[in-house]
Amino acid sequence: MVQLRPMATEGDRLEEILSYPMARMYVSGVNERFLTRRYALAEGVTMYERLEREDLDVVEEVAYQLDVAASRVDGSLRMHFSDYLRYTSRMRSKEWKLVNTEVKHGYVLLPQLRFARVLQQALQDKLESELPLPVDETILRALGDDIRELRDRTAIMRERYKAEDFGKVSVDNFPPCMKHFIGMAQAGENLPHSARFALVSFMHHIGLSSEEILNLFAVSPDFDSSKTKYQIDHITGETSGTEYTPPECTTMKSYGICFEPDSLCENPKAKVKHPLSYYRIKNRPLRSRAAPSSRSSGPSERR
Ligand code: SF4
Repeated sequence: MVQLRPMATEGDRLEEILSYPMARMYVSGVNERFLTRRYALAEGVTMYERLEREDLDVVEEVAYQLDVAASRVDGSLRMHFSDYLRYTSRMRSKEWKLVNTEVKHGYVLLPQLRFARVLQQALQDKLESELPLPVDETILRALGDDIRELRDRTAIMRERYKAEDFGKVSVDNFPPCMKHFIGMAQAGENLPHSARFALVSFMHHIGLSSEEILNLFAVSPDFDSSKTKYQIDHITGETSGTEYTPPECTTMKSYGICFEPDSLCENPKAKVKHPLSYYRIKNRPLRSRAAPSSRSSGPSERR
């Protein structure tokens, strides 16, 4: 556990100390990747918010505890470029690219806020790699009711995303790539730019409003409402004048974002060449789905 500045009261401090091993036991007992990611994200964000206000000595100490090579020069924090690259590889904004940073003698100079953000990712990765831990049978029995309740609540939370967030559309009929992106977004992971573009344009074309699409990204650790809204408005044609469509499957494959193609994707008779074609085929009544039409409407027709 990363120890920070003492809490306001002894009671707070005790609760903080005890909650950490308990949370790990519960998450390990439930043993669901969705919950593990949500937990790691919550711990990471909490630490980030505290490190924003901490002395640099404390920030440096936390980096040390997380095995991140860091030091201070003239009162500024710096991190070894190999650790920086490891933890920022999934952050897609331009400002995180190494070429846009100041590197000296193999170390990246970072303001406290950005340094803390990289440490947040380091903590999340550490927790996700450590959990679940083996939990003693006696403890599992003692926590049995709570673990069952937590497992049920986790299942409800996942279902709620499916059932409510997209109201009128059925996530069950989404192509595997889009299900994967939604899972990443709702687990608070940063999507690669190409996946974000594909997901936003796909959701727009199947009828979701810009606000519904925006909500999808609201749990991301780097969520910036106005920036995300700007991107959505651009992709949906609101501000750009071009209503973009998702890339075709061949392009998705070349980007490395065609995740877990299923039997429909690979069925030569179905001729799925585009994520939107997949969705249309899946939404057809079963009888007509057996003989997919060669006139499956092209994705670019709305451009
Ligand atoms: S084949 Fe196409 S629809 Fe299927 S997962 Fe890949 S990109 Fe998505």
